[in-house]
Amino acid sequence: MTCEPKIFVEVMVFLLGLAIGSFFNVCIYRIPREESVVSPPSRCPSCGRQLSWWQNIPVLSYLFLRRRCYFCKEPISPRYMLVELLTGILYLAVYLHSGWQPATIAWLVFVSLLIPITFIDLDHQIIPDRFSLSGIVLGFLVSLAGWTIPWGESALGIVVGGGVLWLIAEGYYRLTGRDGMGGGDVKLLAMIGAFLGVKSLLLIILVSSLVGSVVGVSLMLINKKNSQFAVPFGPFLAFGALIYLFWGPPLISWYLGLMG
Ligand SMILES: [Zn+2]
Repeated sequence: MTCEPKIFVEVMVFLLGLAIGSFFNVCIYRIPREESVVSPPSRCPSCGRQLSWWQNIPVLSYLFLRRRCYFCKEPISPRYMLVELLTGILYLAVYLHSGWQPATIAWLVFVSLLIPITFIDLDHQIIPDRFSLSGIVLGFLVSLAGWTIPWGESALGIVVGGGVLWLIAEGYYRLTGRDGMGGGDVKLLAMIGAFLGVKSLLLIILVSSLVGSVVGVSLMLINKKNSQFAVPFGPFLAFGALIYLFWGPPLISWYLGLMG
């Protein structure tokens, strides 16, 4: 019987993603509430009872506890499992995309910042500086180490990413007197520029504005709310960044081909 180390590594990477996704659930819930992410141990958000290890296994516990808290039987949000699965899938995707090389570590770090940022922004309309600002530093450091892109592109990505969105936000505010985008989005795009470089920004802004408009208008129609209905922009920037990470170069050549 031949052994299949490749499949074994892929499964391990996916399981690692599930476990880290479980930790992201703790971060997403606790960091905006200014609670520690290490203690106390995980509790049911409804009854506050502490979870045993077997009630805290990513994905499986949710399924075999039949989507309810073991103690109080309150339904558990499927989002915890979704965040775990998303992290597992993205970890596996990064590994399949980049293989064994230092860049893989950089992209895993990048994805690990984007996931909590996305869900904290969805819940609270804020992007904590501890993610975006450390992301700017880390994105630049991995380029300086020669793991990802040339460091000049990373530095320009920080300046242009932060600057362009700041100008758009400032212009929108001057024109309408309302805040369209928060400072959090500006720092997030600077972080994305740090990891993916200045050349990635145009495509990411295009993709995120396009998807953001479609989702925003659909939500407005469904909710019949007015145009002030706030949809956070951070998740769309994160989505655009992932599109670029996995399909950036082919998308750009396709686009340039269209332009002749
Ligand atoms: Zn409970």
